[in-house]
Amino acid sequence: MAKFELPALEYAYDALEPFVDKLTMEIHHSKHHNAYTTNFNKALEDNKIEVNSIEELFASISKYPAAVRNNGGGYYNHLLFWKFMSPNGGQPSSELAEAINSTFGSVDEFKKVFNNAAVTRFGSGWAWLVLVDGKLVVTSTPNQDSPLMDVSDVKGTPLLCLDVWEHAYYLKYQNRRPEFAENWWNVVNWNEVSRLYSAAK
Ligand code: MN
Repeated sequence: MAKFELPALEYAYDALEPFVDKLTMEIHHSKHHNAYTTNFNKALEDNKIEVNSIEELFASISKYPAAVRNNGGGYYNHLLFWKFMSPNGGQPSSELAEAINSTFGSVDEFKKVFNNAAVTRFGSGWAWLVLVDGKLVVTSTPNQDSPLMDVSDVKGTPLLCLDVWEHAYYLKYQNRRPEFAENWWNVVNWNEVSRLYSAAK
């Protein structure tokens, strides 16, 4: 059976300082993401599930045990999250900026809507920018759910996500999730968001 592996980061643990601190990145990647990956493989093995693709698995995730949903989501959401950050993430492409402006009014307004989703997600979860039938939509999911999952309120193609579990920010920001969400824009990898938008639109 194919094993899922913890992906290497494309930057050093301290590369996103001071907005995301080195110790948080190190624990988040080497401990939290590593545990989701290990437990995802174990859940697949325990339940004798062959995965053709994450998209296909998530599209029928309601049929599988909670361990597959929670750890599969944890594995894949973090894989995306690391790619959505960079010490030199550039700016939105002109076509993405146009779509953001026509949907939200401006990039700043989009950030407000996105951060509102991040801050108002009760407990642990994720904020998302997704593409739904060609339209940009901001949403959030609880726990490790993904907008690719059939259980998600809003289903769409992920273009950007922010982890708002306390483990993502507590060491540096403690209870100040809004401050973390605000500072996080300094390290957003717009090049990756633009690439995904171009491929999915
Ligand atoms: Mn996390």
